[in-house]
Amino acid sequence: MTASARLEWGTTYQVTVLELGLACCGVEVMAALDRLPDLGVTPVDGAGEAHVLVVSGTVTDVMLPAVIRSYEAMPEPRYVISVGACSNTGGPYWDSYSVTKGIDQALPVHVAVPGCPPRPEALLEGLKALHRLVNA
Ligand code: SF4
Repeated sequence: MTASARLEWGTTYQVTVLELGLACCGVEVMAALDRLPDLGVTPVDGAGEAHVLVVSGTVTDVMLPAVIRSYEAMPEPRYVISVGACSNTGGPYWDSYSVTKGIDQALPVHVAVPGCPPRPEALLEGLKALHRLVNA
């Protein structure tokens, strides 16, 4: 990734991202964020520091309250990116009794990145879409 891909989230600040990787998509997102260091995106470990929540992987009904708590612990303004078919709709497990059929049923999703799993380029496009939304 070249420096030209860097997104200017602001003149001073970088955007902080909390990734909740709940299944295979989570591994893909971790790898992608590691490879995209010039985007002005800083991964953080705590919800209290994050302005963007990236939900990736299969959200089960048991995990859903923890995902909601993470969102509610984030400071305003806060945004949600849903990554992958599972987080978007339940994906291959859409008919499982234990799987949430889309994180948008519980949280306001600003950008949904399609794929199973999405390629790193798709995550990049999702971040660009959020960047356009934030700066609109
Ligand atoms: S969308 Fe596909 S790759 Fe992503 S968590 Fe679901 S099954 Fe795994």
